[in-house]
Amino acid sequence: MSAALIDGKAFAEGLRQKIAKFAGEFEAKAGRKAGLAVVLVGEDPASQVYVRSKGKATLAAGMNSLEYKMPADSTEEALIAKVKELNADPAVDGILVQLPLPKGLDEQAVISTIDPDKDVDGFHIINAGRLSVGQKGFVPCTPLGCLMLLKDRLGDLSGKDAVVIGRSNIVGKPMAQLLTDANATVTIAHSRTANLPEVVKRADIVVAAVGRPEMVKGDWIKPGATVIDVGINRVDGEDGKTKLVGDVDFDSAREVAGAITPVPGGVGPMTIAVLLRNALVSAYRRENIALDEDAL
Ligand code: NAD
Repeated sequence: MSAALIDGKAFAEGLRQKIAKFAGEFEAKAGRKAGLAVVLVGEDPASQVYVRSKGKATLAAGMNSLEYKMPADSTEEALIAKVKELNADPAVDGILVQLPLPKGLDEQAVISTIDPDKDVDGFHIINAGRLSVGQKGFVPCTPLGCLMLLKDRLGDLSGKDAVVIGRSNIVGKPMAQLLTDANATVTIAHSRTANLPEVVKRADIVVAAVGRPEMVKGDWIKPGATVIDVGINRVDGEDGKTKLVGDVDFDSAREVAGAITPVPGGVGPMTIAVLLRNALVSAYRRENIALDEDAL
């Protein structure tokens, strides 16, 4: 049996169209566009690419994109001052500081300066706390995107056995929280988990967020399970060029799973779409304009 492909690219495109519609309605009601500010420190090539594509996607959704580039040798004080300026700017609904920051800058100190109500990445500890106690805040974009794909595929997640591999603050932990809130029974596996293949084999839902190319093999997967591959790993291809692969060995997993996200084209496109969603939700909240947030 060959698993169905979960087309994150198409899902993200649909979400972006909905966001554009709601962004137009926001502009008509608020008399201004929703605004997302992105701060990039230094010249890391991958970060430059991400920031450019975030900016393009923000504009395409009918929102304002504000980009601030700061030199790699910026001081923490200068970066924090920039964040504070954006906190105070009424035209800015969402603030994202592109990570990783250059060495010597304390990411946690910078993130904790962002106004939690503009923290559209959901990395501020106030938002982590809100998620953990079920209060309205902002949820990190990648796990929220994974949840959307799972609900679209499976509908109700109640009673499903889910295994999240990876316990990072930006993917694994919030993913486990979201699945718990959706009434799945969740196991968090990590680098010290004993018998990982056996743990994974129990799962109706597997979310792999490890950062190890093709680690999860097809014979670890329960037949018919839904597999969400968050990993993005660049490896050498057979043709001498590099290629992107996930944390799941796609070819063997595809033979066993019921449905699986490809890499690229699965989770990746969801992350930016959800970022736009969070920024627009922030704009509606800040202007006190009613919005059915679950519709987005
Ligand atoms: P991380 O390095 O912060 O965390 C990795 C986690 O994997 C850790 O909790 C660790 O315990 C676990 N782990 C490491 N080795 C393991 C092993 N052998 N067995 C089981 N668990 C193991 O990484 P992250 O930021 O959570 O990212 C994970 C992956 O997801 C990376 O490939 C990253 O590039 C990718 N990612 C993709 C997106 C996207 O938009 N698609 C967004 C964020 C991260």
